[in-house]
Amino acid sequence: MKKVSLIIIDMDGTLYDMSDLIEDGFNTSVKYLMEFYEFDKEEAEKILNDNHIYPYVAPDARSTTQFFLSRFVDVFHWDNYRSEHFGYRLIIKDKAMSEEILKKLSQIAPLVLLTNNTRVNVSHVLNQIGVSEEIFDQIVCNEKENKSPSKAILMDRIMKEYGVSPEETLSIGDRYDVDAKPMLELGGRAVVLRKPRMIEKFLDDIDDPKSCEEYFYYK
Ligand SMILES: [Mg+2]
Repeated sequence: MKKVSLIIIDMDGTLYDMSDLIEDGFNTSVKYLMEFYEFDKEEAEKILNDNHIYPYVAPDARSTTQFFLSRFVDVFHWDNYRSEHFGYRLIIKDKAMSEEILKKLSQIAPLVLLTNNTRVNVSHVLNQIGVSEEIFDQIVCNEKENKSPSKAILMDRIMKEYGVSPEETLSIGDRYDVDAKPMLELGGRAVVLRKPRMIEKFLDDIDDPKSCEEYFYYK
């Protein structure tokens, strides 16, 4: 594989198995709409479903936060709410990406965690899966002053900060639209994992990665 000088990695669904807490996350979004926007339960579920937000893993699933950002919701208020109600205790460590594997990635190039989740929740997740924050060269959250509708703006800023071109950058994530597409549009490369542990197969193939059952490689 062509030289990689920077790796940008996603958190939710990439470091841990999304199926562990997707239902809990969906229910939090429903409760939020009921509590602060006076929807009843069925209306709240329908508006989320209509916008590709489901209580299960689906290929066309979209981010609740990005949906809220595009609509009527005060996303800073939502960030506080989801930090307080995040079901990180449901994450199963054995299905998550291991510290050992993340260390291997960090030996290839500086490893930057870029997530649409909040900084509070990053600490909860890393603690739950037994990964030290020091593994990452930097942790960037799409919140507060960084709040943006797509990761593209933040990816671009990170690459400039490291003085690295998109051609030398690899994005690792679990969703094509969220993690791969913005990087590909900037001119970089991406790998989309079907499950966190499938990173091991990708690392085995690192010299000549080819899309397979475990991961999709885009260049
Ligand atoms: Mg993700």
